[in-house]
Amino acid sequence: MTMTDPEALLTVVAVPCLQDNYAWLVQDRATGAVAVVDVPEAAPILKALAERGWTLGQILLTHHHDDHIAGVAELVAATGAKVFGATADAHRLPHLDQALRPGDAVRVGAERAVVLDVPGHTRGHIAFHFPEAHAAFTGDSLMAAGCGRLFEGTAAEMWASLSQFLGLPDDTLIGSGHEYAQTNLRFALSLTPDDPAVVARAADVAALRADGLPSLPVTLGEERATNPFLRAADPDYRAAAGGGRETAAETFARLRLLRDGFR
Ligand code: ZN
Ligand code: FE
Repeated sequence: MTMTDPEALLTVVAVPCLQDNYAWLVQDRATGAVAVVDVPEAAPILKALAERGWTLGQILLTHHHDDHIAGVAELVAATGAKVFGATADAHRLPHLDQALRPGDAVRVGAERAVVLDVPGHTRGHIAFHFPEAHAAFTGDSLMAAGCGRLFEGTAAEMWASLSQFLGLPDDTLIGSGHEYAQTNLRFALSLTPDDPAVVARAADVAALRADGLPSLPVTLGEERATNPFLRAADPDYRAAAGGGRETAAETFARLRLLRDGFR
């Protein structure tokens, strides 16, 4: 999906890779500079660049899992792009031209991405937030109507990570690493079957997927209204989703366990 908002500072393109991954092409409109967030495989990214006549300058990595980095070497060989990733995970990422710490900024042309530390799925997981362009690339932390599994972190860590996104404006575009929206929305409906926002989004996503289109990007406002994990911050939602007198972090942990067992 290419965002066509003429006012937008960035052009954002979801590039389907492997079974259900997305790489994200991000072009700064002002300068034409292009970055990609995550590289599950090189070929679809090279094709998407060629179709648009874009030159790739930067590769931004969210985390070390193979389905996010496997195509880096081939993409670097083909484009000469510079690789950026978390200092904390430098030992298990492809060679980094620039190692990033939380709070660091990466320039993509005239735009700026701030590095957010979002552990939980993996220890060194980072996200890239473009505060001026109102976009965030979240990898396997915040996902469409869901969040990543807790492979290396605790529920409390993931809750703290997701809470950072709750502070961003509603019109922030979210690009995450996988097409899991349909399963995630079925899970959301299992918790609150009559919730109108969830029902409507499930229908929207079903229509997009039936046409072979990505369900992403999505606005943070829509995530706030439909993502059970973000809604753990809302006491009314906690009650509706089966919680008693839980804290938000406790609700998050309970929902994450339920989601792990959900098919
Ligand atoms: Zn992952
Ligand atoms: Fe992944």
